[in-house]
Amino acid sequence: MNMDIRSNYSHSHNYLLMERLLLRLVKKWTAGDKMEDALMAAKASNMKGQKAIINYLGEDHTEVERISGNTKEYSILLERIYSDKIDGCISVKPSQLGLSVSYDLCLKNLITLNKRARDFGGFTWIDMESSKYTDDILMIYLELLRYSHNVGVVLQSVLRRTASDLLHLLEVGGKVRLVKGAYHENDHIAFTSSEEVNANYIKLLGMLFSSNYVNDNKIGDDTVEFAIATHDSKLIEHTIRLWRNSKIGKKNFEFEFLKGIRDELKRYLVEKGYRVADYIPYGDDWLPYSFRRLKERKRNLFLLARSLVQS
Ligand SMILES: Cc1cc2nc3c(=O)[nH]c(=O)nc-3n(C[C@H](O)[C@H](O)[C@H](O)COP(=O)(O)OP(=O)(O)OC[C@H]3O[C@@H](n4cnc5c(N)ncnc54)[C@H](O)[C@@H]3O)c2cc1C
Repeated sequence: MNMDIRSNYSHSHNYLLMERLLLRLVKKWTAGDKMEDALMAAKASNMKGQKAIINYLGEDHTEVERISGNTKEYSILLERIYSDKIDGCISVKPSQLGLSVSYDLCLKNLITLNKRARDFGGFTWIDMESSKYTDDILMIYLELLRYSHNVGVVLQSVLRRTASDLLHLLEVGGKVRLVKGAYHENDHIAFTSSEEVNANYIKLLGMLFSSNYVNDNKIGDDTVEFAIATHDSKLIEHTIRLWRNSKIGKKNFEFEFLKGIRDELKRYLVEKGYRVADYIPYGDDWLPYSFRRLKERKRNLFLLARSLVQS
């Protein structure tokens, strides 16, 4: 083999290897390519006493046909969740429903889905994306809340603005899923150290557990009012301590996890009687989602690098 051929061979070999390893990780984090795969994964979660939150992978779409296809996919998914008697809901990314094209297109699609969810007694979570979309996503959410309350939105503790967003949402009866945040943000608007992001998470948890609707006992026994979505044991333990000292019912909040991560902890929380939900993505557009998961966990990057070196 001459040098060029050898180097090409080794590049393509490394590429194939990386692809194979990435696919192995992707299989852990996602249900598969098809809706059926997601429905099967959802049923498996239900069997373990966990609710399913199903997401059709895709983001930053600008082709109108694709956006309309995504909306249809979710619409069918809502019907299937209902007809298959799955304890679950959908979680959507606004930029797959038109936000990268226009605010109005996304709002229109979300209103359609929200009505559909209402018809089937379902619920829609709106994922939060990078900070360029935060204002629009929150505005869209406030508009949807005027129609019905079967919709929730994600807030990220990495952003400095989040305490004031949360205050506003709590005042209008919004439902919030609290996460740390998966996008790289500028330090003008975001906390950069994990200590600050965690400290802000703790502050936001305090706000959720002491908000007025909780103290006024305005909520039903079985209604989930907010979700704590982190794999961080310290934050989960802190949540449980806050809950013990609050007036909120055990079923009025839920712990949410990503598919394939911390399965033992999920089981433990279910055994202890907490509500637990598994976020189950599916579809073939898995690359951006998988890169975010890889970046979060150095061990996954290490595995990928080690396999390449060993090859
Ligand atoms: C249900 C759900 C929905 C989400 N929706 C959004 C969204 O809409 N928008 C958004 O920006 N982000 C979203 N995220 C992602 C979130 O913002 C974080 O990027 C992601 O959850 C990682 O942060 P973490 O809270 O788990 O803490 P990290 O700081 O990543 O991890 C904290 C600790 O958790 C443990 N841990 C983490 N991963 C693993 C693992 N694979 N195996 C074992 N232990 C582990 C480790 O002990 C680690 O030290 C969502 C997350 C969840 C769970």
